[in-house]
Amino acid sequence: MDSKEIARVFEDCGALLTGHFLLTSGLHSDRYFEKFRVLQYPHLTDRLGAELAARLQRRLLLANVTVRTVVGPATGGILLSHVVARHLGPEARSLFTEREEGKMVFRRGFQIKPGEPVIVVEDVCTTGGSVNEVLAAVRAAGGQVAAIGLLVDRSGGRALAAWSGIPVEALLSLDISAWPPSACPLCQQGIPVTERGSRHLR
Ligand SMILES: [Zn+2]
Repeated sequence: MDSKEIARVFEDCGALLTGHFLLTSGLHSDRYFEKFRVLQYPHLTDRLGAELAARLQRRLLLANVTVRTVVGPATGGILLSHVVARHLGPEARSLFTEREEGKMVFRRGFQIKPGEPVIVVEDVCTTGGSVNEVLAAVRAAGGQVAAIGLLVDRSGGRALAAWSGIPVEALLSLDISAWPPSACPLCQQGIPVTERGSRHLR
């Protein structure tokens, strides 16, 4: 899949919206990405996961590394980890981290062998914060992060700069602008805020 095909998958299922949005941060934006619009379709998630797995494997082959363990953070990262691991072969495992008293940890008896190479995946990377927490959990469990795979990098490449030395693949890279309401160009044009979940969005 090339980047046009990938963008079309997100747009066709309504994951990538254009309008006038109030974000949970309180900022306004003209784009909105709703990951579960795509993750709700197993077939689409699988197509994207296959592409991400193939790209990550090409990078790992160059480094002569074989990875059999994929880790993602709950909740969306579990789905992505599962489909990526499925495309790494029958021995591949899909693990996930989750929060326990605010800290990202492995539970459920998941184990990583000392020095085991691991792929870390995340559905949407905004600041890189949750990926960094998963990296820390993998290292604390004794594993080595061999590569990072993202469905969407929403940071415009800024989050990736922090992971120099680790191969990173992002299927889609977006640079989404956001403004405080007082500086929002859409508010200044008198455009009403889009009601999310509306059928008339796109
Ligand atoms: Zn606005």
